[in-house]
Amino acid sequence: MTAQAHQEEFDRKQKLRFNKLQKRLRREVGQAIEAFNLIEEGDRVMVCLSGGKDSFTMLEILMSLQKSAPVKFDLVAVNMDQKQPGFPEHILPAYLDQLDIEYHIIEKDTYSVVKSVIPEGKTTCGLCSRLRRGTLYGFADEIGCNKIALGHHRDDIIETMFLNMFHGGKLKAMPPKLVSDDGKNMVIRPLAYAREKDIAEFAELKGYPIIPCNLCGSQENLQRASIKEMLQDWDKRFPGRIETMFKAMCNVVPSHLADEKLFDFKGLKHGYAHGIADSDSVLTLTTSHAHEPQLSSGVQQFEKIDLQNLS
Ligand code: SF4
Repeated sequence: MTAQAHQEEFDRKQKLRFNKLQKRLRREVGQAIEAFNLIEEGDRVMVCLSGGKDSFTMLEILMSLQKSAPVKFDLVAVNMDQKQPGFPEHILPAYLDQLDIEYHIIEKDTYSVVKSVIPEGKTTCGLCSRLRRGTLYGFADEIGCNKIALGHHRDDIIETMFLNMFHGGKLKAMPPKLVSDDGKNMVIRPLAYAREKDIAEFAELKGYPIIPCNLCGSQENLQRASIKEMLQDWDKRFPGRIETMFKAMCNVVPSHLADEKLFDFKGLKHGYAHGIADSDSVLTLTTSHAHEPQLSSGVQQFEKIDLQNLS
């Protein structure tokens, strides 16, 4: 095979791989939107763009679904320049200028605040993220966005569940949709069903101008890093385990846990079996339904464009 034929074969395989990934990501985002009603008619969604692989991918997939969605909604891309030394402030405007999208760059020096409050050598990500979140939530109000899309994916959600179990004594993760503590903002996570490795590969094939999140020189959150390592090790040794864990998060059976606030163990009566109870004895309905992503007509409509656009 000549060098040119080699290159052509390589390009053909890359294109096939890219199309497959794009199709899968579109399907998973469509399923999450449908399952959790993340986006509705008339929504104005602020898409938070950090410059990392996840947020670039989220923006791309949402923009592509917007064209074929059964509902009309607006997308507004927003980046926050936190004034970390070395932040390449020209990259995102240059990227966004090429897209047909409204966008804003918020400039706010939270870097100096974080540096002045957190002692040298300690992880600054916690405070940094809180300050960023506060600013972004306020900005969403200013520009009339009723939803805020964040680029957390399935692996982030599972990591958070383990972090909370190991260090917080709580069985909770990162929900695909939530209302902020002050009740004003609705946060959505359209990548909730997407795998990090698919996003990473998609972002690489797209060649996004990634901006690393460690320009500030912060120490990595060691607890999160060790959970990530544990999960990656499991993924290698027990393929499918992560999928199963995520499925478990979507199939919670309160009657088989031990939280008396979720299930009325004291009031449990004879006759209760297999998750079906006399309604008086159940505080929160125990369901055995599989809350697995199912294609509904709405998703099929979100999906229509796939077949047309994937050449
Ligand atoms: S790595 Fe730096 S910029 Fe990123 S969240 Fe942590 S403190 Fe903030």
